Amino acid sequence: MQNTAGIHHISAMVNDAQRNIDFYAGVLGLRLVKKTINFDRPEVYHLYFGNETGQPGTVITFFPWAKQLKGRIGTGQVGVISYIIPKGSAHFWENRLRKFGVEFTSSNRFGETYLKFNDPDGLQLELTEREEGPTNTWDFGRVQAENAIKGFGGAVLFSAQPHKTTDVLENILGLECMGQEKEFLRFKSEGPLGNTIDIHLNPSVRGLMGAGTVHHIAWRAKDDEDHQRWRSLLLEKGYYPTEILDRNYFKALYFHEGGGILFEIATDPPGFSADEPVTGLGKKLMLPSWLESEREKLEETLPHVEVRVLEGDK
Ligand code: ZN
Repeated sequence: MQNTAGIHHISAMVNDAQRNIDFYAGVLGLRLVKKTINFDRPEVYHLYFGNETGQPGTVITFFPWAKQLKGRIGTGQVGVISYIIPKGSAHFWENRLRKFGVEFTSSNRFGETYLKFNDPDGLQLELTEREEGPTNTWDFGRVQAENAIKGFGGAVLFSAQPHKTTDVLENILGLECMGQEKEFLRFKSEGPLGNTIDIHLNPSVRGLMGAGTVHHIAWRAKDDEDHQRWRSLLLEKGYYPTEILDRNYFKALYFHEGGGILFEIATDPPGFSADEPVTGLGKKLMLPSWLESEREKLEETLPHVEVRVLEGDK
């Protein structure tokens, strides 16, 4: 039986690279673990944020492109991205969001309290306190280990066909159904992070891909062999996975699940220290070997961005 530990990473589209960095690094205190370009479109950055090493289950990635039209969150997408914060840190985060002018609300699901807010592009995020997950030791601005976001708690899937998405979660990815509460069906995987997936059973509108929406969600494969087995399983079950692609920091394959959401399966190795040391992650623009000859041109075209401590944190 194939089963995934949980979420590997989530990728989304936004309009402005510096605003994106200011929010995810500056406000949320995540580490920019990789600054590279979209391998399929080198004129666009690909920014990765995670914990101190960019462990699978902590990584959110963005394609910031100013000309990208605004999307709409709805069916066929990951609707909400959930992060785990340490027990007892909700108060810290409420104050922090207030300080940076981020409006939030609070709601309950499956006995947990969720602090809900949007990022500057309209992506829906939430924070929930949990014991599980390794402590994130990345220390930035005024966010320190005792309060730092550990990684993903999970995600809420806005499936167009919940029974089809359920089938993929259970019979392809090996998640276990934990039950239903109101309009949410909950699934669990075994890893310590990114292990709680809720399907929203009646999301309101059809999603439109664009800035402010999630592009895809990636699930963890242990290694290349595990990855291959998944590809075979998908073919056997009538899905159409892509070929296995080398993304430098992991290998990837993509497929559309029956509820319209783009799923990826990504390998844990080699990880973000494949081309730069852990101490220097995210500082330099990293390019795949086949684009190294265009470095000068790309560095000139791409907007200048920096990780900076925000005014309110100085
Ligand atoms: Zn991906």
